[in-house]
Amino acid sequence: MATNRTFTMLKPDAVRNGHIGAILDKITATGFRIVALKMTQLTTADAEAFYAVHNERPFFGELVAYMTSGPIVAAILEKDNAVDDFRKLIGATNPADAAEGTIRNLFATSISENAVHGSDSDDNAAIESAFHFAGREQF
Ligand code: UDP
Ligand code: MG
Repeated sequence: MATNRTFTMLKPDAVRNGHIGAILDKITATGFRIVALKMTQLTTADAEAFYAVHNERPFFGELVAYMTSGPIVAAILEKDNAVDDFRKLIGATNPADAAEGTIRNLFATSISENAVHGSDSDDNAAIESAFHFAGREQF
């Protein structure tokens, strides 16, 4: 069952490079409603747990170091077909392959420092949302 919600993080490079406002503006201009929002910083244990599915990949250590390197902005977004539409809005993992006008095309630095996270399924959107937000922080 589609929940019409997805989870995103504006990653440390996007925050460091001053893109919070521009990225949130693009997200809301595309029709997503922000139903939860916070600035926070992941601990090593947080990042290892959040990205546990990638723990055998060669880039895992670098990913955890990067994701804990500074504050992030976490949000839950609501829209019809939220998960798929948001993956379209952010573009391919590697910004070199991300379509013109996508968030990663506009704001990402590299395949690792790629500005934003977007959930890849409704199940993961629910798991990732609960990882970051208590029920009373979700509207
Ligand atoms: N990543 C990386 N090197 C790679 C592939 C991925 O550093 O070769 C990082 C990148 O930050 C990416 C994250 O690991 O966003 C999760 O990878 P995934 O394949 O799930 O990409 P996404 O779903 O974020 O597009
Ligand atoms: Mg992914």
